[in-house]
Amino acid sequence: MVTVPALPKNRPADALISCVIPAYNEAAHLADFLRDLRKTLAGFAARYEIIVVNDGSSDNTDEVMAPLLAESGLRYISFSRNFGKEAALSAGIDAAQGDAVILIDSDYQHPLELLPEMTRLWQSGIDMVYGVISDRSNESRLKRWGTGMFYHLMESGSPITIPRNAGDFRLMDKQVVNALRQLPERNRFMKGLYAWVGFSSIALPFVPADRATGVSSFNYRSLSRLALAGVTAFTTLPLRIWSGVGVVISIVALMYAFWIAGESLLFGNDVPGWSTLAAGLMFFSGIQLISIGVLGEYLGRVYDEVKKRPLYVVAHDINNGPLNSTSNN
Ligand code: UDP
Ligand code: MG
Repeated sequence: MVTVPALPKNRPADALISCVIPAYNEAAHLADFLRDLRKTLAGFAARYEIIVVNDGSSDNTDEVMAPLLAESGLRYISFSRNFGKEAALSAGIDAAQGDAVILIDSDYQHPLELLPEMTRLWQSGIDMVYGVISDRSNESRLKRWGTGMFYHLMESGSPITIPRNAGDFRLMDKQVVNALRQLPERNRFMKGLYAWVGFSSIALPFVPADRATGVSSFNYRSLSRLALAGVTAFTTLPLRIWSGVGVVISIVALMYAFWIAGESLLFGNDVPGWSTLAAGLMFFSGIQLISIGVLGEYLGRVYDEVKKRPLYVVAHDINNGPLNSTSNN
């Protein structure tokens, strides 16, 4: 699909691999996951660091992490409250020192077995290797329909192409990570930002496993909110649609006005048509409210941007530095 870039790439033999793990209420399986992740990393990475971002969990994540905090190769960043997955990923990306940075969920849904292959593709010169869900048949029809609509809108309204069914599970070269760090926006729709920065990339299909324990934090409401964040951040199509609707309605209204004028000139006017008037009034009030709503949606985001608040607030940051798998520690 993607040919390996012809220009030489800097891929050190003793590359440092950073793994960013956002964790929100994952205490039940987090320690197991970190143990399995270390085992996987030790198998192929000369040096690695694991960055756990506790996104203001309300369970006993801190307690579970306490005995692990002295371990080499671990960085533990804990937020002052829940800031959301996009903020947690951004914190991990800001903190990562690796030559390559892997983003992986802490609930075992992203297969650890894929990490060596991702790294191999990166070593061969590709800058970004992203996981693509190859089978969504276990998702509800409504969710698949919503996802389809979302990608359709993004594709028709934005010059960048966001790969379908790709999530946050990915490996990125240091260059990609540096580019992401330079993006100043507060509204961080990560899937869009990965695509926006460019670089050579390749898809790696995978079938997500079931969640280890607990339930997904993303319900229809939060998914819709995320989709809206993506649409408003990457396309102004919803704003432009209203100019088109306005033009069409004005033309129809003008034709109707001529028709009414002609009719009353020819046949006189005994004031009929109150129902047309009432229906028209309601219809156009609706249209106006919707268009003001769309405008407000964008304006709200502009407001968020100008406030320039930090993306997240860190309460604890414990950094033991990277671990050298080849030495015995
Ligand atoms: N997550 C997070 N902050 C949140 C919600 C989720 O850091 O506010 C993390 C969560 O711990 C997990 C990943 O993001 O590692 C994906 O979340 P989840 O499994 O709930 O979503 P899904 O797999 O359904 O996309
Ligand atoms: Mg999950």
